[in-house]
Amino acid sequence: MKKNNKQQQEMNRRQFLERLGLGSATALSLITVGSLQAIGSSRKALDDEAPEQIKMTYRVQNGTGEHISLLGFGMMRLPHEQEKVNELVDYALAHGINYFDTAPIYGGGSNETATGNALSRHPRDKYYVATKMSNQHESLWSFEKAKEMYDNSFRKLQVDYIDYYLLHSVGGGGIDNLKARFIDNGLLDFLLEERKAGRIRHLGFSYHGDVKVFDWLIDNNDKYHWDFVQIQMNYLDWTHAQRRGGRRRGDANAEYLYGRLEKLGIQAVIMEPLRGGGLANVQDDIREQLARARKDDTPARWGFRWVGSKPNVLTALSGMNRMEHLKENLETFSPLAPCTNVENELLERIADKMSGLPTIGCTTCAYCMPCKHGVDIPGNFAFYNKAVVDGRLPLPDASAPDYEEKRQAYLTAYQEAIPNKARANRCQDCGECLSKCPQQLPIPTHLSRLVEMTRKKKA
Ligand code: SF4
Ligand code: SF4
Repeated sequence: MKKNNKQQQEMNRRQFLERLGLGSATALSLITVGSLQAIGSSRKALDDEAPEQIKMTYRVQNGTGEHISLLGFGMMRLPHEQEKVNELVDYALAHGINYFDTAPIYGGGSNETATGNALSRHPRDKYYVATKMSNQHESLWSFEKAKEMYDNSFRKLQVDYIDYYLLHSVGGGGIDNLKARFIDNGLLDFLLEERKAGRIRHLGFSYHGDVKVFDWLIDNNDKYHWDFVQIQMNYLDWTHAQRRGGRRRGDANAEYLYGRLEKLGIQAVIMEPLRGGGLANVQDDIREQLARARKDDTPARWGFRWVGSKPNVLTALSGMNRMEHLKENLETFSPLAPCTNVENELLERIADKMSGLPTIGCTTCAYCMPCKHGVDIPGNFAFYNKAVVDGRLPLPDASAPDYEEKRQAYLTAYQEAIPNKARANRCQDCGECLSKCPQQLPIPTHLSRLVEMTRKKKA
């Protein structure tokens, strides 16, 4: 817990007690009973206004004692129509989700506005909103430009304080990039002051890429007092992140990142709990294995249950742009059934098996988009990954008896799935997408491999 912000914490605590509508002695005992092991604690016990049906699992925020829904709403890919966004947000809030994560660069810049429009229709004390300093592009490294982005977040979200504020996607570009974006221009000092003033209630960072940056920020925790850190974590990346598709130096397993945070009592916000949907779309034999172990759980539910079972997780973000996804996820987390040791071991064996597959480590986040030559980068990679999982890749050996049949089937399915102008062969190898990919994938190299795959080889 950070120590530099006592006044703010007191204010938060007081607000929290008021929100409970309880005498302070009773409320304090409730707060102290709350712990990192809050699996099963329900907002119903804390909030008289909550509808009876809310069974959401909550985690207690270390600093303020606030109860955060273990399922967080990732707003990254929202429907275009505001009405549909409102409908999703209303349903989520009514069923216990209270953490909403957006960023200035999501939705081509429109995501914060849509999020703000939907949330501002509800009382401010019913939701926690997270947004970020998305100054990844060099043109935004000056203090003035970054400050403009910061001010815009308040305006677009229609708030006068932000609950969770993150340095967005640090790690790519190494320490030099971090210093240029946040340290040398005085921006981090400014954000620390904003936290003191209460306009930022919790300050953290989201991390991808060079682990030296993660270590540097954590090593300096005595100075920055991070309230939370957002990391990519799922049962595959727990011990297999380093071995997967096309990464450059320094990337780390989630086990290491989570372990460092846990030791310092910094809670983790989880992104990619299903690894861009890859863990929802598993091979048939894995699906069957999972169904034998727990017949009513989908592969997606297994992935969420694994993440939610880790006690130092504050919330796990899921991008939900369709009502059916929202409802299915709510069912998983209301309440969450933690994984048993036997189930954890099963997922470990499955992760070992998956890590041998030649999939591309794309999470379909679309940060690399748009490509000025029209390539649908995540679409191409998702198509390829699905073909790997389904065992539909063209055979590498052109003399194999069904080589041509498999190649043709793959090609036809590819042409049906990806429009002509968005195919891999449109890539001009300009390299512009490279620095935007938080997974540090060698995008043009992978695309050219995809093109090669469809070409007919001589036997
Ligand atoms: S390298 Fe290829 S995919 Fe990336 S931006 Fe350039 S043309 Fe598009
Ligand atoms: S290639 Fe990288 S940036 Fe693009 S969608 Fe995939 S993970 Fe995201």
